[in-house]
Amino acid sequence: RISLAVTNYNTWTVNFEHANGTMPVQFFIFPEDDTAEHRAAWEKCVDMLSVFNRIFGTYPFIEEKYGIYQFGFQGGMEHQTMTGQGGFWEGVTAHELAHQWWGDMVTCKTWHDIWLNEGFATYSEILFRERVYGADPGQLLRRRDDGLASGRLRGTVYAEDATDPFDDIPAIYTKGAWVVHMLRYLLGDDRFFAALREYGQRFAYANASTEDLLRVFSEFYGESLEWFFEQWVYAPMRPIYAFAWSVHEEGAGYRLRLRLQQQQTHLIARRDPTLPPVYIMPVEFTLRYADGTSEVKRLWNRAREETFDILLSRRPVSVTFDEGNWILKELRAGFGESFAALEPSPRSVRSRVR
Ligand SMILES: [Zn+2]
Repeated sequence: RISLAVTNYNTWTVNFEHANGTMPVQFFIFPEDDTAEHRAAWEKCVDMLSVFNRIFGTYPFIEEKYGIYQFGFQGGMEHQTMTGQGGFWEGVTAHELAHQWWGDMVTCKTWHDIWLNEGFATYSEILFRERVYGADPGQLLRRRDDGLASGRLRGTVYAEDATDPFDDIPAIYTKGAWVVHMLRYLLGDDRFFAALREYGQRFAYANASTEDLLRVFSEFYGESLEWFFEQWVYAPMRPIYAFAWSVHEEGAGYRLRLRLQQQQTHLIARRDPTLPPVYIMPVEFTLRYADGTSEVKRLWNRAREETFDILLSRRPVSVTFDEGNWILKELRAGFGESFAALEPSPRSVRSRVR
């Protein structure tokens, strides 16, 4: 693939200093847009190179260069080693640079797998802001979501129509980024970033499919993640949760009862029939106490309705659900009624955890 852009550019070069030397980063800007502010905005890609180099592994074209040239329409296009950008937004600059790893180094095998390029590049925008500004990744993703199961991100991450792979950009880009975020939640940072680097190395300068990604992350997780991909990658929509809590004195302490319902009516099309037809996820409850302290309980939810009893030495004053915004979900306040109408005799599973 060759891209040619020809005009009377102003150009300059900045060096990216890395462990093994120096790499040029070249810029080509329209003279009428050549301001100190615009130059500084694009030069942020040198900081981004440092950040992504650490997170993803060495920049894939380190012996060559990186660069940004301007084009006359909005957005960006990640040509290998020389990205076209219509503007100066930080998010676009981070997104297109990340494509050098996720898109240009590891290229999606088919158009069905385009989320491996776009979901990863979108999550990279979040990672950059987290690493450099200390931003909360869950909050950043939550801002790009309307919180509705039938909302903007209702589509399927795996592009079903390979003849029109960009027909659902919110699903491929933003829900795709949520999938990466939820893999991180599931594996924890150490295993997640190790898996990400291994995925990059194993498919470097080659192609990868969704199933390839599934295999690498399953290896690092320690067991098959097929159930995760069934519900988050191959199925549309998301879970709708409602929860309620109560606390009672018991002996010298307290018994906290957490009830969780999944109220969505859709099923998960490719679900392994031996697994429950609902979303299987670890869920986090944050317990707050009168003295200002708090703790997080992570519990596995594998049923449409589940009750968890937890014995505590102190009485919590509040309980919240998924405060870290780790799960793509719709959260409903109404507990019980809509659910009762949906399924008259829900299977209730009780588990006792400490
Ligand atoms: Zn992109």
